[in-house]
Amino acid sequence: MTQIERALMGEITEEVKAVAASEKVDVNLILRRVASGKIVIPSNAKRKVKTIGIGKGLKTKVNASIGTSTDIIELAMEIEKAQLAEKYGADTIMDLSVGGSITDIRRAVMDSVALPLGTVPLYEAFAVAAEKYGSITKMPEELLWETMERQCEEGVSFMAVHCGINRLTLEVLKNQHYRYGGLVSKGGACMVAWMQYNDKENPLYANFDRVVDILKRHDVVLSLGNGFRAGAIHDATDRVQIQELIVNCEFAERGRGMGCQTMVEGPGHIPINEIEANIILAKKMSGEAPFYMLGPITTDIAPGYDHITSAVGAALSASYGVDFLCYVTPAEHLGLPFTEDVREGVIAARIAAHIGDMVKLSDTDRDKNIGKARRNMDWKTQFDLAIDPERACAIRNKRNNNEERSCTMCGKFCANDMLKGMFEKHTKGTDKD
Ligand code: SF4
Repeated sequence: MTQIERALMGEITEEVKAVAASEKVDVNLILRRVASGKIVIPSNAKRKVKTIGIGKGLKTKVNASIGTSTDIIELAMEIEKAQLAEKYGADTIMDLSVGGSITDIRRAVMDSVALPLGTVPLYEAFAVAAEKYGSITKMPEELLWETMERQCEEGVSFMAVHCGINRLTLEVLKNQHYRYGGLVSKGGACMVAWMQYNDKENPLYANFDRVVDILKRHDVVLSLGNGFRAGAIHDATDRVQIQELIVNCEFAERGRGMGCQTMVEGPGHIPINEIEANIILAKKMSGEAPFYMLGPITTDIAPGYDHITSAVGAALSASYGVDFLCYVTPAEHLGLPFTEDVREGVIAARIAAHIGDMVKLSDTDRDKNIGKARRNMDWKTQFDLAIDPERACAIRNKRNNNEERSCTMCGKFCANDMLKGMFEKHTKGTDKD
C-alpha cells in the first residue's frame, strides 16, 4: 500500500512520524495532508532513503539534477556530483543520465548517497531506442513501460513522467504560431518527435492508469512533467504551457484518487511578475498537490549566472507556496555541469529556499541569531549558522588577522566595535531566548 492509502486508513507510518519530527509539525496534521495528497513522502520499499516530506506547511525542499550526456560520460564525476549535492544540502537527487550504461550509473549513484533518487524514465527509454533502433522515434511503447517497471524495482523514489503532452496540447502549440525558446524539455521534445513520426497519441497520456499502477506498486511519487515549459521569458505562461498544466492538474486529481502520491511540475523561464499567477493556477487546479518548480529562471540575459537568475525566481516561488525547487547551475544552457557548478547550484537554491521559508513559514530564528552574532563579532557563531561555513571562513581568513575582533572592511572604524554593548539591553527586553 502507498503512504496515501495508509494515511487514508488512519495509519501513522514510520515515514509520517519521521516527517513530523524533522519538520516539528504535529503528526496528525502530516497524516491528514498525506491522506489528502497535499504532502508526499518519496519512498520505495526497495531502497532505504532519508525520509523527507514535500508539500503544504513543510520546509521548501531542493533537488539537484546530475547525470551523463551523450558527450560526457564520467561515472566518477557523477558520483562526486551526487555526494557534493548531498553535502551542501540537497534533499533529493535526480539522475538524468542519457549516455553510457544508464542503469549502472543510476545504481552507482543510489549506492553513493542516502537521498531519495528521481528519474525521467523517458530519457532512458529514448536513449536505449536511439542506440538499439537508430532513432528515438522508433522507441517501442513496451520499452517505455519496461523501463518504468525496472526503475521502480531498483528503488527509484520519484519519477517525472510527461503525461500532459497530448494531441490537443500539440495542436495548441501549432496554433499559437510562436515559441521564441522552442521546447527546452528533452523529454517533451523527444515525445513530440515520437508522436509526429508515429502519428500516435502519447502513450503516457493514453494509458495514464498504467503509469499510476506501475508507480503505485512501489509507492513511487508521480511527478507530472512539464514538457512544454517555457524555455524563454517571452514564452512564459503561454497557451500551450497552460494547456499542459490543465491536463497535469486533472491527472494529479486522478492519480491521487487512485492512491498514488502525486505532484505537479512547473516552468521553466518566468518573469518575476508572473511567478505568483503560475503558482496560484497550479495549486488551485491541482487541489493543492505539491508543486515542483524547475528554477524558475527569471531573465534570459545571464548565461553563466543562471544559478542566480533562478535563485531570484526560486525565492519568490517558495514565498508564494512552492514546495520543491529544482536547482539550476551556472552551466545551464551552456554545457554539462561539473562538480563546482553543482556546488554553486545547490547553495544558491538552498539560499532561495530559506528566503522563501522566511515568508512562507516565518522561519527567521537563524537570521536573528546570525544578526546578533555579527553585531557581537562572534565569528564562530556566524560561521556555525552560515549556509556555507567553509566559504565564509575562508574569505575571513584570507583577509584578516584572526586575533582582531573586527574585520578589514572598516578596520579601526568598525561600527560594531565602537558601539559594543549598546544594544544588549534592547535585545534582552524583546528576546524570549
Ligand atoms: S569592521 Fe565593519 S564590516 Fe567588519 S565587523 Fe566591524 S562593522 Fe562589520
